[in-house]
Amino acid sequence: MKRFAIIVGCMLVTLSACAHGISDADKQGILEGGNFEYLKLGATHMLTGYDHLLFLFGVMFFLARFGDIVKFITSFTLGHCLTLIFATLFHVKANYYLIDAVIALTVCYKAFDNLDGFKRTIGIQSPNLLAVVFLFGLIHGFGLSTRLQQLPLGQEGLVLRILSFNLGVEVGQIVALSGMWILLTGWRKTASFMKFSKVANAGLMAAGLLLMLKQLHGYEHTRFIDEFPFNKEEHFQIHENMDRNRDISPTDTPP
Ligand SMILES: [Zn+2]
Repeated sequence: MKRFAIIVGCMLVTLSACAHGISDADKQGILEGGNFEYLKLGATHMLTGYDHLLFLFGVMFFLARFGDIVKFITSFTLGHCLTLIFATLFHVKANYYLIDAVIALTVCYKAFDNLDGFKRTIGIQSPNLLAVVFLFGLIHGFGLSTRLQQLPLGQEGLVLRILSFNLGVEVGQIVALSGMWILLTGWRKTASFMKFSKVANAGLMAAGLLLMLKQLHGYEHTRFIDEFPFNKEEHFQIHENMDRNRDISPTDTPP
């Protein structure tokens, strides 16, 4: 069973090697570049962060009216700007695997909501979506801030750097939303939309669950060594080291 969990974990790792981290090349670029570098990174981060994209896709799924899109996306944006700016400014941090696991859960929540899960399985009205989207915005922003705080930030010009990254996130979000809007508007006109909407949202839920498992697996790594190698061989090696640590640690501590 444990072996199976490791294999599944490693498969997920290989699948999502570049899902969320900020590469070393990016870090170097940041050190040398100015605010524009931060803007670019914010945009790249948004466009390569599957979890943010999946959540937005879930939110956009049933929004046909432009006014509704503006309303919900504004609520989400307000939320993530608040935590992105203030958590970074005041150095509030969390383990990024854990916060990303919670973000993955927000994807599951929206998919569940899209499947009308509240009415069908619990028999209650789904909670106020505008408030939920704002709350989830706060969580996504905290995740973004945790990532931003992994970068060299410095004190001088900190606010401008944060705002540049934030602006980049919004640019990335607009690009992503435009793509989704075109896709969903086209799809909505066809008969297959309603037919496959359940399948699509079940898929969204599964993707959220897989992302959550992947992040929890990453968290398991940080308890031993703060490293999450994407290379399969290195990954297995780290697990072997973890097992060895587990085996010797009880006798290691003096009585
Ligand atoms: Zn692992």
